[in-house]
Amino acid sequence: MAAGVNEPARLPSRNVVPGAYRGVAVTWVECDLDEESLGRHLIGREAYRRTRFIVVRNGPETGVVAVQKASAEPLFSPITGLQLLVGPADCVFLEDPEVDTAIPTALAYAATSRAPGKRGVVVQGKYEHVSFIIDPSPLRITVREVAPPYPAKLLDQVHRVLALAEHLPPIELVPDVVELDSLAESRRSEHYLLPCRGGGVAVEGATTDYLDEHPERREWTLIGCERSEQIHEWFYGERAPQVDICPWKRSGGAGPILAKCCLLESHIEIDDRRVIVPWGASLAQISQALTTLVDEWEPSWAPA
Ligand SMILES: [Zn+2]
Repeated sequence: MAAGVNEPARLPSRNVVPGAYRGVAVTWVECDLDEESLGRHLIGREAYRRTRFIVVRNGPETGVVAVQKASAEPLFSPITGLQLLVGPADCVFLEDPEVDTAIPTALAYAATSRAPGKRGVVVQGKYEHVSFIIDPSPLRITVREVAPPYPAKLLDQVHRVLALAEHLPPIELVPDVVELDSLAESRRSEHYLLPCRGGGVAVEGATTDYLDEHPERREWTLIGCERSEQIHEWFYGERAPQVDICPWKRSGGAGPILAKCCLLESHIEIDDRRVIVPWGASLAQISQALTTLVDEWEPSWAPA
């Protein structure tokens, strides 16, 4: 007999999401959705070998139970015990073909946006797959970025990575995006130098030049990162008055932070439980950064 098959499931205290290979069965019943009634109804019935959770439904009511079976070896085995994880007063059933139920972040977003305040949310999503989340409490990660371009690149990339992140706990992004022209206002000048024309920024009421075009030297204020200052020094033999746009150097904020820095070129760095990625970070590096933040801030989370 496989170990653990008879033991009650050990579940995290929040963000309970079944793992990819933990079968979730759906059963319509006619009994009340309390643990005792469900026990009378389900114990002794055969369940498929991979089934560990059963979504029980009766009319409009939904609950979720964890089940133990006599054995995990044969294809089917009798149910020997169950725990009601969430009952119908605290649970809803959502149908949304846009939700990929294999992605914990997508499950949590569906739960918190569509059924706020409910402990348990069962979602029938893409491919008609059914999964659930109990006690959703996403890890809030601040993404520190500067714009334009729009959409703010790092923030957009993190959203794209999260849309595929089967292995990460639910994550909610907290954008901390500062606009270049508001940074310019912090140091008034009649002439600004920006890193490149590509960003499309011009500061109203001031002349704007772009460092990547190597313009003739003027008395300007550089709106750029440390790397831009280094390039300025290379071109003109001196540094310019500067408004530093580096998101990593922006101070303040608590909790998990993901920021980019102009000085990183090829690797990510961790500093005081926050993660810094290069200016041109790849999606793979951003995935690695998110995994690193989760290891720091949610080390014990695992799918149920
Ligand atoms: Zn930097």
